Amino acid sequence: MAGKASVTRAGGSVSDVRVAVIGAGFGGVAAASYLTRNGFVNFRVFERASGAGGVWHQNTYPGAEVDTFSDWYSYKFKAHDWPKPHSPQPVLEAYINEAIDDLGMRGKFEFNSDVVRVAWNDARRTYAVELADGRSGEFNVVVSAVGLFNTPNYPKWSEGISFRGPAFHASRWEHEHDLRGKRVAVVGAGSTGAQIVTAIAPEVGHLFVFQRDPTWVLQKNDEWYSTEERRSRRNRYVYQWGRLRHAYAEQRRFFSGELFLAGSKKNLAESEAAQAYIERALGDAPDLKEAVTPAHPFFAKRNIKADGYYETLRRHNVTFVRSEVVDTSQDAVIDASGNSYEVDVIIMATGYQAADYLHGIDVIGRSGLSLHEYWESVGGPEAFLGMTVPRFPNFYMLYGPNTNIGQIVFDLETQSRYLVRDLKRMRRSGARALEVRETANRLYNSWLQSRLSRTIWVGTKNYHKSTTGKLVVPFPRASIQYWAMTRLFRTIAHKAV
Ligand SMILES: Cc1cc2nc3c(=O)[nH]c(=O)nc-3n(C[C@H](O)[C@H](O)[C@H](O)COP(=O)(O)OP(=O)(O)OC[C@H]3O[C@@H](n4cnc5c(N)ncnc54)[C@H](O)[C@@H]3O)c2cc1C
Repeated sequence: MAGKASVTRAGGSVSDVRVAVIGAGFGGVAAASYLTRNGFVNFRVFERASGAGGVWHQNTYPGAEVDTFSDWYSYKFKAHDWPKPHSPQPVLEAYINEAIDDLGMRGKFEFNSDVVRVAWNDARRTYAVELADGRSGEFNVVVSAVGLFNTPNYPKWSEGISFRGPAFHASRWEHEHDLRGKRVAVVGAGSTGAQIVTAIAPEVGHLFVFQRDPTWVLQKNDEWYSTEERRSRRNRYVYQWGRLRHAYAEQRRFFSGELFLAGSKKNLAESEAAQAYIERALGDAPDLKEAVTPAHPFFAKRNIKADGYYETLRRHNVTFVRSEVVDTSQDAVIDASGNSYEVDVIIMATGYQAADYLHGIDVIGRSGLSLHEYWESVGGPEAFLGMTVPRFPNFYMLYGPNTNIGQIVFDLETQSRYLVRDLKRMRRSGARALEVRETANRLYNSWLQSRLSRTIWVGTKNYHKSTTGKLVVPFPRASIQYWAMTRLFRTIAHKAV
């Protein structure tokens, strides 16, 4: 990167195409690895945080771990000796860093580099990438891998908070506070809230858990692998078999799309499993059982996968409050019924602004078109296969609109492969820019929205919707179908401009 006055020149020949990748989570590192392994070595990765890992760098809260099987929630090109089926945050962060080092890519990563503007230059056919600290550079291709769960959703009451003790968002954990013996409020009972509650309950003095709406919980049945199991899993056939087994199970689960339809046999069968878990854990505690049983269909909100969460709610030092927090005083939190609970620490497990794609980045395409304004004009974020947008040549998104498909790392690799195929096409044809056709984009998104309009996500309050109510996060089928679409449609949908 150069200072603002002296902008770096992009390579004139497509063979040394310069690529800017934004974000160094699973997505950015997937893109970097596909670029490296396919010979496109002229790239930089800009990451706002001080290190790589994305959500696995940021979320250091107690109990943070993945819900998806690690064999499957990992790169195809990099097997790993996981310590348990669902690995904890430090292991995932280390894994991503190892992937960077294995491929010798570390020198291409620029940390503490917050991208704020990406602007296409029609005449030069390049993007100017601008950083918050004033640095900028010129690139032929830009890949956004900024993820979905980075911008914390702070509750209204936290603005100008009068509470005198520590109060922080779960993804910005303040490790300097010792919680032992303290009265702690955990606000929010989603996946993160459930993990924190289960992890800290044994050590805090008293824990208040505030739940606005319940969510379906599935048992993880997670245990550390024995030394013997780890030894046998180091065999690559055993490992790949495990990976394949999980992949197959997940594809079967999502393939027909039936799981996403309210009242369908598949949906009811899964909610029955979740209901049975409530019965097992809380059958003899009718008030608690009723409080944690959701009214919404299974899968309409992100399910919780946890061991011991319901059991933790029954502990003598835990008070479960079936209400949202609406305010604080100097030493207490206040719920929607006006009840006040004196606490020493407040932890906000209140989620993220997931539907706010490319938050904080101004993306400018052909003829000065702003991506955020374009999205406003079509009722909310959308893209062809969640990756490319008409009039934004050579701009790719990983984990973009409607690509929260379920097998995220596999999907990120699918998208990285798609990007590399386009770069190879540019190299072969001599084209300096590719862009998705308006018609392809329109047809794809009308198919998508018509499928989504019949799903469980429509009638439920969840993070899948933009402010206009458009479903902009989920995909109504399985990863394997999404993968097939990326193989079938890319060549006809993208044109040289
Ligand atoms: C606590 C938690 C648990 C999760 N568990 C699961 C799970 O069990 N299974 C699952 O499938 N998914 C899970 N997810 C979803 C998770 O987001 C994805 O699985 C995956 O990590 C996405 O990777 P990513 O690289 O696309 O995004 P991220 O990991 O979010 O990485 C994006 C990176 O981009 C950087 N960035 C953003 N904006 C800018 C900018 N303007 N300039 C520079 N850098 C920028 C961010 O700092 C971040 O490092 C979880 C998410 C969270 C928060």
